[in-house]
Amino acid sequence: MSRLNSILSKDNLSKKDLIYLLSLSDEKDIEELFKWANDLTIRNLGNEVYLRGLIEFSNVCSRDCKYCGIRKSNGKVNRYTMENSEIIKAARWIYKRGFGSLVLQSGERSDSRFIEWVDHILKEIKNISNGELGITLSVGEQTQETYKQWFDSGAHRYLLRVETTNQELYQKIHPAGYQLNQRIEALERIQKCHYQVGTGVMIGLPGQTIEDLADDIIFMKQKDIDMIGMGPYIPHDNTPMAKLVKNFNPEKQLQLALKMIAVTRIYLKDVNIASTTALGALDQKGKRKGLECGANVIMPNLTPDKYQKEYKLYANKPEFLASLRKDFKALKSEIKAAGKNIGFNKWGDSPHYFKRTKKERIEN
Ligand code: SAM
Repeated sequence: MSRLNSILSKDNLSKKDLIYLLSLSDEKDIEELFKWANDLTIRNLGNEVYLRGLIEFSNVCSRDCKYCGIRKSNGKVNRYTMENSEIIKAARWIYKRGFGSLVLQSGERSDSRFIEWVDHILKEIKNISNGELGITLSVGEQTQETYKQWFDSGAHRYLLRVETTNQELYQKIHPAGYQLNQRIEALERIQKCHYQVGTGVMIGLPGQTIEDLADDIIFMKQKDIDMIGMGPYIPHDNTPMAKLVKNFNPEKQLQLALKMIAVTRIYLKDVNIASTTALGALDQKGKRKGLECGANVIMPNLTPDKYQKEYKLYANKPEFLASLRKDFKALKSEIKAAGKNIGFNKWGDSPHYFKRTKKERIEN
């Protein structure tokens, strides 16, 4: 048996094994890794792909992350905040098409006006969908009270990327004063408020090593994470970090991101993994490729066209709505081409969440 096959057949992979898998460079070996991860996904989670309609409802952000196109100091961005009616219109579209769930994402704000407004939107979405639309929130670090308030108003999944678990690298890609621990503590608060907890990292950051990525995967297991949303780092010209990137190679970056998805699937097994927008920015077929190597969730962007161009986190971020609204068939055939079916009208919750909380539920 080859070294690759003997590692893939193990029940428990070591850090050394993870590094070996993430370092694969032979095309045939990589194909084998992806096939293994895809088969495991089908065995553990079935053949369905769950849709989350993504609404990027505001690009106003109080943070200044050095990699992000909507960082506070980027004066070239036209800041927007969607009207309530526009958000509800997008939510209705998502509901009527049978997506089952949506994601509300924005820059980070924690002022009380924002907190109450998000609360109101959550209740409205629950109201117009008879409680049927599942809601994932992704609006950054908040207090426990805020997380609880939003959970009580209808959000049941929360996505907060840790970005990297390497302390030194975290410091390098953020302004002074931003601490990895604060991010981890926020994840713990989210978990305490009974959300399904999502996190993830950027893959291929300048200065990031394969060992760092293996540590990221181990972190996600240790923290009992339910959902993973991670993707390739892509430079954005108006950010300080883009200057550190020499010879950006989209093909290599995509391959590393896909290997990361596959290895995460093999190590964590029963979590939901999203095939993220950034994969589609590197390759037209990027999202489909993600579904073929371990991902089981897709987040079509339904932010109205006029706002999408202002929510540019990185270069070449694809704009979807116009084509998606006109041609929902294209999305369906992409998913079909990956050999999967859409789980219409389902929340498609993470099986890991139910296992993690089973004990809690029995005790109550
Ligand atoms: N404010 C929320 C938060 O902090 O979680 C959500 C919005 S934030 C813009 C969403 C994610 O975009 C970040 O967690 C980061 O991983 C990703 N992102 C930002 N800039 C990126 C870049 N240049 N390349 C790839 N991903 C990027």
